[in-house]
Amino acid sequence: MPDYVLKATAGNGQIRVFAATTGGLAETARKLHQTSPVVTKALGRLLTAGSLMGSMMKNADELITLKIAGDGPISGLLVTADAKGNVKGYPYVNDLLDTLEASMPVSEAIGEGTLNILKDIGLKEPYVGYSPLVSGELAEDLTYYYAQSEQIPTSVSLGVLLNDDGTVRQAGGFIIQLMPNTDDEVIDALEVALSDTPSLTKLLDEGKTLEAIMDDLFKDLSLKISKTEITRFICDCSRQRITKALTSIGKNDLIEMISDQEDIEVNCDFCKEKYSFSPEDLQSILDHRTDSKEQEG
Ligand SMILES: [Zn+2]
Repeated sequence: MPDYVLKATAGNGQIRVFAATTGGLAETARKLHQTSPVVTKALGRLLTAGSLMGSMMKNADELITLKIAGDGPISGLLVTADAKGNVKGYPYVNDLLDTLEASMPVSEAIGEGTLNILKDIGLKEPYVGYSPLVSGELAEDLTYYYAQSEQIPTSVSLGVLLNDDGTVRQAGGFIIQLMPNTDDEVIDALEVALSDTPSLTKLLDEGKTLEAIMDDLFKDLSLKISKTEITRFICDCSRQRITKALTSIGKNDLIEMISDQEDIEVNCDFCKEKYSFSPEDLQSILDHRTDSKEQEG
C-alpha cells in the first residue's frame, strides 16, 4: 500500500482533518541518507509534516519548506513539499551513532533552536513564518507555530516507529485544526477524543487503515472524508538545476576549481544523486556567468 494523505472534515465542517501514513517515504529517506535511528525518526517526522502541510495548500503550484535549526548533534533538517504529495528532505548530520544515541530522544538530538516555514505561493516574496522550538519533538513545535504565527488552534501528531535493525516500520501523523468560531461543544468533544487516542503508528502497526483510525477518533463528531492522495519522497533535481547553482558561486572559486584540472562531483542534498563536471564544463559555466554579469552591468 503506497503512502497517502487523507483529508476530511468533522463536527459539521468546524474541524479540518489531515492525516497521513508515510512509512514508505520515511524508509526511502533513511536509505538515501543512511541515517542512524534518532535521525531517521526526526527526518521521518518532518517529512510527514511536509506531506500534511503540502496537502493543506490551496494551489497546485505552491511549495512549502520546513527548516529546523538546532544546537543539538543533528544541527538541523530541511524538508520541502508541494501540493501534489511530493516531498523531499535531508538532515544536516545523518549519523549520530558515535554520540551514544541509542536512547536519545529526538528533542535532544535537535536541541534548542528555531522552526522556519517558507511558503512560496507564487508571489514575489515567499511567506515566512518563524517560531522557537518549544520541545524539539517537532509535533509540539508545529502546534506552537500554528498558535503563534497563524493563530489557528491546531493539534499535531507525528510519529516514526522503527524495527530493531533501524529500518522504518511505520510512520504517520495528523494535523487537526479548528475553524474560527467553532462551537464549544465541538471543541470539548475533540479534546476528549484526542485525550485517549493511542499513537497513530501503533494503530497502523496493528493493521488498521488511516480511514478506520480517523473514523474511530471522530466517532462522535461525524467524520466526512473528502479526499485521499498519494504522497511520496521524490526529488526533482537535474543537471540543469545543479549547473544553475554552480553559476551562482563566486567567480574566484570557479577559477580555482578549473585550475585544479580535475572533474568535480556535486551531490544533490535531497537525494544524493551525483553530478560530475569536467574543467571544460566549469569553464563554460564561468564564461556564461561572466556574460550574464556583463549584460546586467
Ligand atoms: Zn536530488
